[in-house]
Amino acid sequence: MERDLHARDRVGVQDFVLLENFQSEDAFVDNLRKRFKENLIYTYIGQVLVSVNPYKNLNIYTQEEVNQYRNIHFFEAPPHIFAVSDTAYRSLTEEGRGQCILISGESGSGKTEASKKVLQFIAAVTGHKAQVETVKDKLLQSNPVLEAFGNAKTNRNDNSSRFGKYMDISFSALGSPVGGNILNYLLEKSRVVHQNPRERNFHIFYQLLAGAEDEMLAKLQLKRNLDTYYYFTHGVEGKVNTIDDCQQFQQVRKAMAVIELTEQEQEDIFAIVASVLHMGNVGFTEEEGQAQILKPECVEAVSKLLGCKTSKLDRAFTHRTIDARGDVVTSPLTREMAIYARDALAKAVYDRLFTWLVMRLNTSLQPKEGRRKEVMGILDIYGFEIFERNSFEQFCINFCNEKLQQLFIELTLKSEQEEYQREGIEWEHVEYFNNKVICDLIEEKHKGIISLMDEECLRPGEPTDKSFLTKMNENLSSHDHYISHRKAGKELQKNMSREEFCLKHYAGDVIYNVDGFLDKNNDLLFRDLREVMSETTNSITKEVFPVSDVTTKKRPDTAATQFKNSLNQLMEILMNKEPSYIRCIKPNELDQSGVFNDRIVTHQVKYLGLMENLRVRRAGFAYRRPYEMFLQRYKCLTPATWPNYHGPSKQGVHEIVCHLGFERDEYRMGNTKIFIRSPRTLFATEDAFQA
Ligand code: ATP
Ligand code: MG
Repeated sequence: MERDLHARDRVGVQDFVLLENFQSEDAFVDNLRKRFKENLIYTYIGQVLVSVNPYKNLNIYTQEEVNQYRNIHFFEAPPHIFAVSDTAYRSLTEEGRGQCILISGESGSGKTEASKKVLQFIAAVTGHKAQVETVKDKLLQSNPVLEAFGNAKTNRNDNSSRFGKYMDISFSALGSPVGGNILNYLLEKSRVVHQNPRERNFHIFYQLLAGAEDEMLAKLQLKRNLDTYYYFTHGVEGKVNTIDDCQQFQQVRKAMAVIELTEQEQEDIFAIVASVLHMGNVGFTEEEGQAQILKPECVEAVSKLLGCKTSKLDRAFTHRTIDARGDVVTSPLTREMAIYARDALAKAVYDRLFTWLVMRLNTSLQPKEGRRKEVMGILDIYGFEIFERNSFEQFCINFCNEKLQQLFIELTLKSEQEEYQREGIEWEHVEYFNNKVICDLIEEKHKGIISLMDEECLRPGEPTDKSFLTKMNENLSSHDHYISHRKAGKELQKNMSREEFCLKHYAGDVIYNVDGFLDKNNDLLFRDLREVMSETTNSITKEVFPVSDVTTKKRPDTAATQFKNSLNQLMEILMNKEPSYIRCIKPNELDQSGVFNDRIVTHQVKYLGLMENLRVRRAGFAYRRPYEMFLQRYKCLTPATWPNYHGPSKQGVHEIVCHLGFERDEYRMGNTKIFIRSPRTLFATEDAFQA
């Protein structure tokens, strides 16, 4: 870093804390742009890594870089994701501190690629014994499998992760990976039955149709032609230039073998994938208000693939049984209801298959008893989302980001405080916005939005999205971060309809449309269909639709509550770890290299909270270095330390500082480090050095 201080005009500063005008968003974006134009995609804010997606392969992840960043101090080389990985890895192995690497950013900003780079580095620097290699291979091969089932082409990213992922890697006492564990969050299952224009369903469907041998397809009763399938027709876009489905399919099959999925299991998996396509094609007409199946051959295909009675599935597709306090009544469904029920089944089957896959991966990655020591977690999860129209999904995703921001505040301030304490320096209070009030607004028991929503879902009578909105407006209007249509100012009201509410998130205001909230929260799958699934012979559907689900009277938790609970569990896991942050930025919306769009980047700088991040970091001392490093670089500046100095480093640094006439408030001498308040002082030092 020191080496490049003087080049700051051309390539910007490597660490935003060195920006003179650190409160200016423009200066921040300027710095990113300068560096981006030089292919310098990484920049620090202290220990936080900011990464701008280059949209082209840079030759910066080779063995040479691995060697360069191995075992050096964080600030000794230009910013790089390997530096973050190395610091975390060493902290884990040398100090035994559990680590987590938190990667955030909007869709297409490079989170998943970043997580792979971390994994690549870890794989490169750890042991090469056969057993360890097997574990690494499994960790690496878990990606193609999860991506096939959980990623899709969207308008923002040709390989967009449609689920949140947290992966723990466990290490032995010797620092070798010995296993792992994956937690998955909220798969966007609505994509199974519907896609926006120019988007696709999950990759695996296309991979299977393009890559499977004729014999396999025949067995699954599938045709290669995409037009055959109703669950594609909304999306149309079957072929994507950047994606080779056929070749990917071979890779997925290989990966499946590496993670030890048996032939039978693989067969069952593809039977489910195929059955989802057949479900989509079932189709209904209506006679006298009752749904009739249009294509019985599709129902037959599903029952054959999953192993259940056609007649029973047939009936479950068109009827609904309700058990009202012991009164069991079966009634026919209308066409509209039948379509709803069928889509719910397709989504549930696929969603549970995905969760099953993760579980199965975890079995394969399970460390052998007693070998596990410390873990490093990598979180690759959806960033803050603001679309033209925001619904239940955005609500969940943005809630997740509020929680992560909360964690960030707690952990950053905590670690800052700890460093000050460790170094024996007086703690300086930092003003910052604590977003806990927003988390509470959403998740507080009895009063929060999720509670109100659950209450409304359960209410007898006819709860609707509208009645839910009214309830929120009545209960929450006095909250500073909840804006009803009525309460909205003139400006905001122009953009808001009466079916909408607005939340003032830490990252900005988001208007949500309540349409579909209750339905998505209820996430209802009729009992008849659950029952048929529990009776299938396909080992996976049988397992993921347990009989107990059918017989129990207890309502399962709502979607939002389940999500809330899993997030809170995640927070607990992360709270006890030492965090590293990677903040990813997408430079343009064209997925093009070399294009840096100021407006789009500024937007993300805002939503990632980077200015606040920098402000907190700069509030105290912007720059800190161990005495040895500082002395090593600047010892030539005073006769007291140059050419010969053999005293303690701290004393030497003190000599330099006195010689240069640092102002009293400009620096502190900690136990092992010097703390310098503003970059100006440092630049002056550097200029003296250059002169
Ligand atoms: P989503 O939230 O939609 O899953 P993401 O943040 O995970 O998005 P990625 O899939 O990691 O985004 O990146 C999108 C694309 O950008 C990649 O497929 C790749 O083409 C390119 N890309 C990202 N990071 C890099 C990098 N470091 N070097 C080269 N290309 C990259
Ligand atoms: Mg991703």
